[in-house]
Amino acid sequence: MPELAVAGGTPVRSTPWPRWPQPAPGALAVLDEVLNSGRWAISGPYNGQQSRERRFAAEFAAYHGVRHCVPTANGSSALTTTLEACGVGAGDQVVIPGITWVANASTVIGVNAVPVFVDVDPDTLCLDPAAVAAALTPATKAIVVVHLYSAVADLTALQRIADRHGIPLIEDCAQAHGARFLGRKVGTFGHAGTFSMQQSKVLTSGEGGAVITDDDALARRVEHLRADGRSYGSTPPATGAMELLETAELMGNNRCLSEFQAALLIGQLGLLDEENARRARNAADLDARLAELGFRPQRTTEGTTGRTYYNYAVAAVQEELADIGAERLSAALTAELGLPVTPVYTPLYRSRLYRPHTRSRYALDAEHQRRIHPQGLSLPTCEQAAKTFLTFHHAPLLGDKAEVDDIAAAFEKLVAHRQELAA
Ligand SMILES: *Cc1c(COP(=O)(O)O)cnc(C)c1O
Repeated sequence: MPELAVAGGTPVRSTPWPRWPQPAPGALAVLDEVLNSGRWAISGPYNGQQSRERRFAAEFAAYHGVRHCVPTANGSSALTTTLEACGVGAGDQVVIPGITWVANASTVIGVNAVPVFVDVDPDTLCLDPAAVAAALTPATKAIVVVHLYSAVADLTALQRIADRHGIPLIEDCAQAHGARFLGRKVGTFGHAGTFSMQQSKVLTSGEGGAVITDDDALARRVEHLRADGRSYGSTPPATGAMELLETAELMGNNRCLSEFQAALLIGQLGLLDEENARRARNAADLDARLAELGFRPQRTTEGTTGRTYYNYAVAAVQEELADIGAERLSAALTAELGLPVTPVYTPLYRSRLYRPHTRSRYALDAEHQRRIHPQGLSLPTCEQAAKTFLTFHHAPLLGDKAEVDDIAAAFEKLVAHRQELAA
């Protein structure tokens, strides 16, 4: 067996991986049209044409079969406006998973509420419904569920818990565009679904976001919250006049998507289903290959009818491999593949990015400061996942058999060298 790349040996792969992001055909022409249209933002004057932002919103709502889509500047602002539109505010508790991107905690403290970190399911890495039920208090005002990496959370159980307690379920679909559960797209099970279109996501315009919902009043509040208290009127104005009306129903902030981003998203949306299918096919092949080697691929909740791979995640379960630890295994894989392989997100309650005390705006009073610093918290399944799971970005799954072969070969090489890695 050749030497490990981390020990100076030849890496399994040195050729490039599929590129991400990849522009849709015609993207340049569309951007050029926006450039010369006189309208770069929805807050600019009406130019006689429907804004690209409204066109994207209509297409994204239709894609999900929902009544409303409100585009936002990014996924964080989609979460912030949704939390506020659901009435979450000062001192309220919001349940979030212990393993996810930092935005799930920062958006909650951003509306002066308190994140309550809850443990995840060991197979799906998404919120564990039993742990959610146990974490609810009279102060809980929302549950934010994240469909993490390639899994769909247990929406049936979570919906039941949210309904029983009369609190909104918000689906963070930043990693799950196009995923389906019981035949329906995710984002349509909760009171609202939020999306990020940041560069790494499977649907992207560099930065961007959206909120989808069937609730008319909720959509209207989100609309005002993201456009400084303005909203579109029921009919377009005269050319040259402002299209956003100062209804001031609700004070907002500027969290709008630009026309360039909306134009890109319309094109990218046309590629999403085909790319999701390609990634899922390659992931299924890889699942089988890695299972044979003693690894356990991330599972999704039973009832998932379409899987979206944002990251591929797999656990080292075989004892000798598990003992090596995710840090070492992922460093070795990174060296073999020339592709960043990492452990899962550090559990949020001890993540180096979750540092509310570095911002004086969150120092409301001693009690609030204590509540938003989860000192000493340790969620067993989150901690176990951090030790065993390895993840990498979806771009390699856009390749074909050659890419799957290389990834499987790198894992195989690690298994052959397990004693050396354990030393
Ligand atoms: C990316 C991401 C976000 C934040 O989206 P931004 O567009 O970066 O603000 C929120 N939640 C999850 C789960 C994400 O992956």
